[in-house]
Amino acid sequence: MKIFETIEEVRNFSREKRSKNLKIGFVPTMGALHNGHLSLLDASVKKCDLSILSIFVNPKQFAPNEDFNSYPRDIEKDINLAKERGADAIFMPSIKDIYPIGYQTRVIVEKLEKPFEGKYRPHFFEGVATVCTKLFISVEPDEVFFGQKDYQQCLIIDRLIKDLNLAINFNMMPIAREPNGLAMSSRNQYLSLEEKEKAGIVFLTLEEARKQIAKGERRRKVINAIMLKKLKELNEIKIDYVGSAIADNLEEPEEFLKGDKIVLLIACFLNKTRLIDNMLVKI
Ligand code: AMP
Repeated sequence: MKIFETIEEVRNFSREKRSKNLKIGFVPTMGALHNGHLSLLDASVKKCDLSILSIFVNPKQFAPNEDFNSYPRDIEKDINLAKERGADAIFMPSIKDIYPIGYQTRVIVEKLEKPFEGKYRPHFFEGVATVCTKLFISVEPDEVFFGQKDYQQCLIIDRLIKDLNLAINFNMMPIAREPNGLAMSSRNQYLSLEEKEKAGIVFLTLEEARKQIAKGERRRKVINAIMLKKLKELNEIKIDYVGSAIADNLEEPEEFLKGDKIVLLIACFLNKTRLIDNMLVKI
């Protein structure tokens, strides 16, 4: 497995492989790899001739009061995991390679970045969209693999690929979960064992809403209230938002209609750790 630390190196590698008609898969991550990340890599290995995984903790998607400095980093372990799971190359650029002195350009996906996460982390999606665009331009992949875990992010990346006419196929992969339903996340390392158990309530909350929808509930506010009530069973939870929306565009009608594909969305803190999760449901 190759390890590249500059854009030039990864681009040369990718172009050389493409000239041989090989299909290149790309999995962007911030490292501290877990089975969620590795399931994306598995999908890439399966679908593509060559898979590149990037590790870059992107300063532009963290607000000053967030955990950029303490974000979990374990490069040695990540390299071994990626190698074991069949990555052909790891791309780990430096901050100054991605944001050279004098850097000014931003990528904004106007509407999709506003609701839900956008309200609580207003800086976030601009940072994500900008860095992903730069990573795509550097790696020049045919296929990219993202996790449904970050559902709104998936919509935004899919949109920007279309809007910028990038010749990339977008793949959204299912959420990898712990046995109690907790969505895997690098930030779960911040949780104690006891907190991890308790955090299962987030998935139970989504399940509760799904069951009520299956029984015929269509009113968005009632669906949200069901989730709010369930989530509040755990005292230590501080809720950023619970919501339900049309899955394709995040619009929030008063009532959903038969045939609608909707997404249930949750963001909350368990003590100091921020958890997000979601579920797709067909009405
Ligand atoms: P991150 O390192 O958190 O920026 O995540 C990198 C990629 O892995 C993103 O596309 C995430 O959506 C995806 N990912 C993170 N956690 C999971 C999970 N539990 N299941 C599936 N994909 C995930």
